[in-house]
Amino acid sequence: MHMPSKIVCVGRNYLEHAKELGNDVPSQPLLFLKPPSCVIGAWEAIVLPPQSQQVEYEGEIGVILGERLRHADEATAIGAIGGLVAVNDVTARDLQKTDGQWTRAKGFDTFCPMGPVFRGALPPLDAIEVVTTVNGVERQRGTSAQMAFSIAFLLSYISGIMTLEPGDLVATGTPAGVGRLAPGDTVRVELKGLSAVENVVRAPAA
Ligand code: ZN
Repeated sequence: MHMPSKIVCVGRNYLEHAKELGNDVPSQPLLFLKPPSCVIGAWEAIVLPPQSQQVEYEGEIGVILGERLRHADEATAIGAIGGLVAVNDVTARDLQKTDGQWTRAKGFDTFCPMGPVFRGALPPLDAIEVVTTVNGVERQRGTSAQMAFSIAFLLSYISGIMTLEPGDLVATGTPAGVGRLAPGDTVRVELKGLSAVENVVRAPAA
């Protein structure tokens, strides 16, 4: 399984998703980190932590770095993309609201399912489609064209803050339609034609 040295995530990068949670799109990208320890692969279980009563899926387009990136312009950033991957930015929504920081809400073990990394020829970066289904029912559908901040802009922006290493993951935000997961659910995030990750949801061990 692919293991990034860090996972940089972008909050509120789709207008309709920002609005569904009562927020605006920020004037600059809103960044947070998930710990690499929360990564799981396809068919490993998402475990609902006892600390939360509201765990939600967030299907996202993930970008894997192929080269080190530091203070890069957008063209350089595009050239450093090593692959694309389906990501589920699993979130304890109740803890996200009560905690000032999102580390706990976003950082539980199993909260970052990742599919196999697509390393073929890149599609147009404004035409990547992400679809989330729960128990076979479509819940989210978005494309990178709807992002407030483009993939190239995000990579350039992040590289002005922290060095991105080969293998690092940037999760570029979720479209509208987030919702709750329950024990027994099967949740699937797919980047059309590129990568998919499907996981069952489990209650915490007693
Ligand atoms: Zn997210």
